[in-house]
Amino acid sequence: MGGTTESLWQRATKVLPGGVNSPVRSFRGVGGQPFFVREGHGPYVIAEDGTRYLDYVMGYGPLILGHAHPRVVEAIREQVGRGISFGIPTRLEVELAEELAGAISVVDMVRLVNSGTEATMSALRVARAVTGRPRVLKFSGCYHGHHDSLLVKAGSGAATMGVPDSAGVPEPIAALTLTVPYNDSDAVRQAFRNYGKEIAAVIVEPVAGNMGTVPPVPGFLETIEEVTKAYGALWISDEVMAGFRVNYGSVAEVRGLHPDIITLAKVIGAGMPVGAYAGKREYLSLVAPSGPVYQAGTFSGNALAMAAGLAQLNVVKAPDFYAPLVERTRLLAQGLVERAKRHGIAASYHQAGAMFALFFRAQAPLNFDEVMETDAALYRQYFHGMLSAGIFMPPSPYESVFVSAAHSDEDIERTLVAADRVFARLPG
Ligand SMILES: *Cc1c(COP(=O)(O)O)cnc(C)c1O
Repeated sequence: MGGTTESLWQRATKVLPGGVNSPVRSFRGVGGQPFFVREGHGPYVIAEDGTRYLDYVMGYGPLILGHAHPRVVEAIREQVGRGISFGIPTRLEVELAEELAGAISVVDMVRLVNSGTEATMSALRVARAVTGRPRVLKFSGCYHGHHDSLLVKAGSGAATMGVPDSAGVPEPIAALTLTVPYNDSDAVRQAFRNYGKEIAAVIVEPVAGNMGTVPPVPGFLETIEEVTKAYGALWISDEVMAGFRVNYGSVAEVRGLHPDIITLAKVIGAGMPVGAYAGKREYLSLVAPSGPVYQAGTFSGNALAMAAGLAQLNVVKAPDFYAPLVERTRLLAQGLVERAKRHGIAASYHQAGAMFALFFRAQAPLNFDEVMETDAALYRQYFHGMLSAGIFMPPSPYESVFVSAAHSDEDIERTLVAADRVFARLPG
C-alpha cells in the first residue's frame, strides 16, 4: 500500500469514526485497511495510489451502468449549470415519479426522498397511520436502513418481540418490531396468530441482498401477501437494492405479487442520494401535505439527483438491456463456483438479475442462520487474493456482488482466471 493511502487512512481515522462514513467501507469484515478511490470509469475504480481495480461493488448497487456513464455524466453536467436544488417543484421530479409509476403497475403515486433509509422509515409511518397499529414484522438478515424501528434483531424464540441491534435504539421501540427467519412462511403465520391485530406491516426484501443474495422460496412472498391481506396489514416490498437491478421495475410485481408499498433507491438514483416510497393512491395520498402523515425533506427530489436517475433509467429501460447483463452475471457466478469446486472448495451461489453472492458453503443458504454457516475466514482470504489481483469484490461475505453493463466478457474472463489462481492457494 502506498504512502498516500497510509497517511490518508491515518487522517481519516482521526476525523471520521472508524475512518469511514458507512461501516462496511472500513474492511472490518475482511481485515486490513480500505483503499481510497480517486475516480471511477466504467467497471474500474482507480485508487489514490494509482492502482486500478475491476470493481464489483459498484457503489453497493446503484451503478448498473458502471462509473461515470456518459449519459449520466452529461445529464448531471447539463443540470448542474442550471441549479442543483430549489425547494420549489421541478419538471424533473414529475418525470421521475411518472417513470416509476409507468414501470410498476401497483404504483399510482411516489414520494421522493434522499435514501433507502428514509424510504423505509416513511413507509412504516404510512402503514402505521393506515392501520392504526404499532407493530411491524421483518426478517432476520434483511436490511432496511438504519432507523430505530428496523435496527432490530430477533429476540430469543420464534416470532417474539425484537431487541435492539444497535446501541441507542430504545428497547420499547425495538419491541414493536417482530423478527422471524427469511423464507419461513410458518413463522409469518405464527407471528400473525400471536400479534395479527397489532401488526401494521410486513417489510421484506423480495430478494434479500444484504446477507449475500438470497432468493425467496416458492410460496414465501405469496404467504406474506395472503396473510397481510387477511389481517388488514400492509405489505411493504423493500426494493431499494433489487428494484431495477433484477429487472426493470418491481421484483415483486414480476413474480405476480401486489405489494401495498414499494420502497426504492440505489439504481433509480444512478449513484446520487435518492430514495422513494411508492404505491397505491389510497396510501400515498395520506402523506403530507395531502394527508396527515408528516414527512418532508430539503433535498427531496433535488434536480441533480432527478436528472441522474432519469438518465440512467432511460438507458436501462431499453428492451434488450437486462438479458445480456443477467447472462454475464450468471457466467461469473457459475464460473466462480466451478473454479472453487475444482480446487476442492465447497461453494455455491444465488443470483438475482445483475447481482449474486458466492457462498463458501456446499448448499446455497436460504436464511440468515444458513448464511452465518458460510466460511467467513475463507472469504477473507479470497477477498484479499482477488484484491491483490486488482479485483475489488465486496469487503464482506454478506454483501452482494454487483455486475454492471460496463463489465465486458473479457472482464468476466479475467475475473475467473484470477479467481482460479486464488482458489488454488486456498485451503480446500
Ligand atoms: C441499501 C438498502 C437500504 C438503505 O438504503 P440507504 O440509501 O443506504 O439508506 C434499505 N433497504 C435495502 C434493501 C437496502 O439494500
